[in-house]
Amino acid sequence: SSYDEEAQYEAIASSYNVGSLPKYGYGMEDFDQEFGAYMPTEIKPKILLMGLRRSGKSSIQKVVFHKMSPNETLFLESTNKITKDDISSSSFIQFSVWDFPGQIDFFDPTFDADTIFGGHCEALIYILDAQDDYMESLDKLHAIVSRAYKVNPNIHFEVFIHKVDGLSDDQKIETQRDISQRANDELLVAGCDSIHLSFYLTSIYDHSIFEAFSKVVQKLIPQLPTMENLLNIFISNSNIEKAFLFDVVSKIYVATDSSPVDMASYELCCDFIDVIIDVSYIYGMKEDNETSAFDSQSSSIIRLNSSTILYLREVNKYLAMVCLLREENFARQGLIDYNFICFREALQEVFGVRARASLVRERNQNSLSFNNSISKDWDGR
Ligand code: GDP
Repeated sequence: SSYDEEAQYEAIASSYNVGSLPKYGYGMEDFDQEFGAYMPTEIKPKILLMGLRRSGKSSIQKVVFHKMSPNETLFLESTNKITKDDISSSSFIQFSVWDFPGQIDFFDPTFDADTIFGGHCEALIYILDAQDDYMESLDKLHAIVSRAYKVNPNIHFEVFIHKVDGLSDDQKIETQRDISQRANDELLVAGCDSIHLSFYLTSIYDHSIFEAFSKVVQKLIPQLPTMENLLNIFISNSNIEKAFLFDVVSKIYVATDSSPVDMASYELCCDFIDVIIDVSYIYGMKEDNETSAFDSQSSSIIRLNSSTILYLREVNKYLAMVCLLREENFARQGLIDYNFICFREALQEVFGVRARASLVRERNQNSLSFNNSISKDWDGR
């Protein structure tokens, strides 16, 4: 029961002395072990992924969190059991994706809504196949949402209008309008108009699925406004056009400064991360372990012939900052690096991480030695 979880949390929290940390571990669980941050895994927030059979749930999960290429999903076997995919070990984002088979009957008395929607379930993503007739799916959406809301009114309801790669721009707008109107009308009729649904147009064949996931995840990070502020301060003091804080494994951005996000820049940053990861994997693997070669010492610069610079700095083993800036402003890289260190320290404070002073000092010294290419410390320190 939730009471037991509370008690368990308290016990774990006091034994690790993390009283000041946020209650749910938004990736701070292993946030640099050497900093002494610890977050019990039992209490991490859950994101549910639901939708009819063949709506694309497994594909989304594989593409976003397991780097499968969209074409390979054609051969995925359809989901026919409840699967829980735990992605906490490799990602900043501490959530589990629950994949439900489409044909589950939510009114079946054995269906344990309290366990599934209660507890720490914070977001429910409903996948709706836009290339199919969506009436049945809309009914299901209504049934799920109204049921879940009764159990837990704090859930964020997110509807992914999925597979929109087959639609023209006009059709996309029309589909979204139609679906949101029907879904909201139905809620209104049922007297559930206090339920708020958010809609996203998504496809695994472009970056829209990553963007949508980014927005969903950002809603679950209570420290987001502070992070945005820190990024604003960082870019204005460093003459940077745009900065994203990325979860490297999933390419979800957990925060960005408050200037508008332009899709092309976001895609560029995603591709940049792919390059870094690939190079790190090929040339930076440690012999005996499977973990990513991407670590706290990684950094990289790419100069584009449009006189734009892409600059990546590792924040911790899951998070990286990716900046877009004009070439002439990169002349003072020292300033940027210094500001970056300040940013990173502030971020760690935000998450209640008490850094050991000696370690920070040592890290700062390391970070000040600039690297003009992908750098990797071979003995892993
Ligand atoms: P699940 O039963 O909900 O897990 O659905 P699957 O993940 O097995 O997907 C069913 C089919 O939809 C697969 O053949 C996927 O290749 C396809 N699919 C998934 N996402 C997309 C998308 O964004 N666009 C298109 N065109 N097809 C997709």
